[in-house]
Amino acid sequence: MTTDSAWYESACILCENNCGIQIQTDGRRFARIRGDKDHVATVSYTSNKALRPDHYKSGGTRLTTPLRREADGIFTPIDWDTAVREIAARLRAAR
Ligand code: SF4
Repeated sequence: MTTDSAWYESACILCENNCGIQIQTDGRRFARIRGDKDHVATVSYTSNKALRPDHYKSGGTRLTTPLRREADGIFTPIDWDTAVREIAARLRAAR
């Protein structure tokens, strides 16, 4: 582990509150996260979600492609061009 010892200011984006957080990095991963005590609105507060962004960013169940819901309720992975084309066609039809 080659953790960068600097703390970088950021904000949690997992809900609309955007709590202030500080992050230490290890390459492209977040090594440590804490609430930002200097943040004007949230003053060190975070919920548990902000302390586990790697779980949301790199978790094994993270979606990596668009999914199309089929008539039987099953979700089928599709590529982005297909997803955009199909969504655009449905929007045109709805309009
Ligand atoms: S730390 Fe929790 S409350 Fe704050 S923005 Fe993230 S998810 Fe929302």
